[in-house]
Amino acid sequence: MRVGIIGAGQLGRMLALAGYPLGLRFEMLDPNPQACGGQVAPLTVAAFDDEAALAALARRVDLVTFEFENVPVATMAFLAGRCPVFPQPAVLEVAQDRLREKECFQELAIPTPAHRPVESRQQLAAAAAELGLPAILKTRRLGYDGKGQAVLRQAADLDAAWAGLGGTPLILEALVPFEREVSMVAVRGRDGGMQFYPLAENSHRQGILRLSRACAADPYQERAEEYTRRVMEKFAYVGVLAFEFFQVGGELVANEIAPRVHNSGHWSIEGAVTSQFENHLRAICGWPLGATTLNGPAAMINFIGELPGTPTLLAIPHLHPHAYGKSSAPGRKVGHATLCLPPGADFDGALRKLREVIGGLD
Ligand code: AMP
Repeated sequence: MRVGIIGAGQLGRMLALAGYPLGLRFEMLDPNPQACGGQVAPLTVAAFDDEAALAALARRVDLVTFEFENVPVATMAFLAGRCPVFPQPAVLEVAQDRLREKECFQELAIPTPAHRPVESRQQLAAAAAELGLPAILKTRRLGYDGKGQAVLRQAADLDAAWAGLGGTPLILEALVPFEREVSMVAVRGRDGGMQFYPLAENSHRQGILRLSRACAADPYQERAEEYTRRVMEKFAYVGVLAFEFFQVGGELVANEIAPRVHNSGHWSIEGAVTSQFENHLRAICGWPLGATTLNGPAAMINFIGELPGTPTLLAIPHLHPHAYGKSSAPGRKVGHATLCLPPGADFDGALRKLREVIGGLD
């Protein structure tokens, strides 16, 4: 079976690397000729609205998926007219707009921060008065890794935030005083069967995910599974879906969904019986899903900007490095490494050692 992937970043690359042992073949499409997925599969360099290139890809593959959440819905709808596309483009429309996403959570009775749409400076003032401060102003579309956001702590912050973000549809959200940020990665097959990974506990640095730790027997596991099940069933979803939550006051509050494999699930390559990448492919191909259980305590650290030397990483027992084949640049995710220990091992001790060698895990 040949799988087309729209987007050829590290997520596409890791999908292909997981799919070759299953006998799958891949082709990718990305406007960036340097996209790192191109190192592991044939890459068509084309704009996402290049219909001739999209149609040609659809003719060469059996089905298409995407690894880039901001791929235009029109691109996936165009492809869906020519070959099977999973996940269904309808979910992208919701996931790409923070307001529609929150409306969807409310419709499914999933708690989400209080929020207001903002299209003008007057609306911003009214929304801030209604929600109170602190609050967080975000662009409704195309934000990622903390970009397109401003925290408002006092009335004087409104002008600067509006100067930075105004002119595009925005959303103001109450700032949640969360105790933890956790994410659920789950997969739903074409037959409607579902599997859920253990919750990951996430910490960020300058808006970018830094550390994800898989949580065995987390007290919020069941709640997160229930909320994720509601979303996947609403869309008759096929593939891997990630759901980010804030834990606060004994509840999970929904932040956002990502209709794709997710950075907070990278630990599953070594840390789970079946990785999120393999399970996404199993799901979209209509094949049996694999078990999502933990192999042992696991945590993943992202390398942002530049990679530590491979020998440095290889000197740490039970650490598995993944370089993405990208050049160094500030704020760019260039690789990750997963610490995965045998059950019962001293995980905190190993994490401390990792911290000493790599530095600045927090
Ligand atoms: P996002 O792009 O929505 O995932 O936001 C990036 C990060 O900003 C999140 O991981 C949180 O750490 C923080 N954040 C976003 N929205 C809120 C909120 N409503 N309350 C508190 N923190 C938030």
